[in-house]
Amino acid sequence: MNEMIDNQINEKWHLVLWNIFAVICGIVILSEWMLIFTYSSDANPEMEKGYYIMTRAVVPTIIELAVLLISRYLLKNDRLDIGKKNWLISFMMFLILATAAYVHFKILPIILLPGAAIVATALFADNGITMVMTLLNLTSIIIDNIRVMHYFRVMHYDELSRSDLIGNMIMAMAIAIGLCVLVIVINEHTRELMDSIIDSYRKQKSLSAEMKKDPMTGLYNRRSFEETLEKEIENVKQTGKKAFIAIFDIDHFKNVNDTYGHANGDVVIKALCKMMQEKSQKNGIAFRYGGEEFVILFSDIELPKVINIVEDIRTEFRCYYFQFMLKDGITCSCGIAEYQQGESSKAWFNRADTSLYKAKEAGRNRTVISE
Ligand code: GH3
Ligand code: MG
Ligand code: MG
Repeated sequence: MNEMIDNQINEKWHLVLWNIFAVICGIVILSEWMLIFTYSSDANPEMEKGYYIMTRAVVPTIIELAVLLISRYLLKNDRLDIGKKNWLISFMMFLILATAAYVHFKILPIILLPGAAIVATALFADNGITMVMTLLNLTSIIIDNIRVMHYFRVMHYDELSRSDLIGNMIMAMAIAIGLCVLVIVINEHTRELMDSIIDSYRKQKSLSAEMKKDPMTGLYNRRSFEETLEKEIENVKQTGKKAFIAIFDIDHFKNVNDTYGHANGDVVIKALCKMMQEKSQKNGIAFRYGGEEFVILFSDIELPKVINIVEDIRTEFRCYYFQFMLKDGITCSCGIAEYQQGESSKAWFNRADTSLYKAKEAGRNRTVISE
């Protein structure tokens, strides 16, 4: 369940992130090519124009486009699970931003750019990914700063002292670690929210399952029977398989209550329900239709088998020994009806009920099958 929610949400956000980073990539690439026009050999005494174009525009463009295309291809691959795709999209974000920071290291604030990849991992609520992205960020900050120091040494920029540059690097690293801590807090918050959503979803499911059952016997209730009956008719229409309704009613149950008390009456009902449930579970579903009336809905079965099961329940119930009874057993009657083509659920049920009525009229403790 947890995974199901994760999958649906992450699947959507992978694509959103990919699209956002495709746009960022487009802007970065455009800027890189436009920067070429600002090239001056005074500002870049260490390299010629051709080399400058190659390292500042061509190579980064190739890297960024390759990262975008490969990640898009892998995101569409069904063999990669959601966890791996979370890692993939995070690496993609980092690579695109770190490439831009590496190439344009001279613009000092740019070394913070890959920090956006740390922030974006908040979408996956995975502390492992957040921490690895932070480590990569720290590495990228160190590399970019080494390049900055080297550049300033070459350019003899004395006004930016070595300690200023080290301070710059430490501050950038502190910001990256700060972002990491913040995202971890957000991750924990998201996890707690997810857990509470999953918890209430489970409660809701078990509540709706309980609503379908009769609390005393554990059998499905009348509402559930009516829903299942409609579905079964659809099933018969589609598959052409046979279906039967068997209605059970305890004989002279009012006398049982009057003689032995209501509590003992409940014991009788529970005993019959237990038998119905056990003996019908392979071929049908048992329901408590009303007070002391029960139904078994049989599907994909032949009449002799239905009669077998019904008679098995009826005879076992008749022979059941109830401790509170002095003599005689309690009996039940049953009416069976097979579904007939084109018939409504009501008409089908009424035929079974008429058979039950006939069983009662004929002296009870018997089963009558509708023609
Ligand atoms: P018949 O053989 O014609 O079915 O007679 P009957 O006495 O069984 O039928 P009737 O409809 O007159 O009485 C059913 C009785 O079942 C009345 C009601 O008080 C009792 N009953 C219904 N639900 C429960 C229950 O949950 N527990 C108990 N103990 N009795 C119940
Ligand atoms: Mg009865
Ligand atoms: Mg009755």
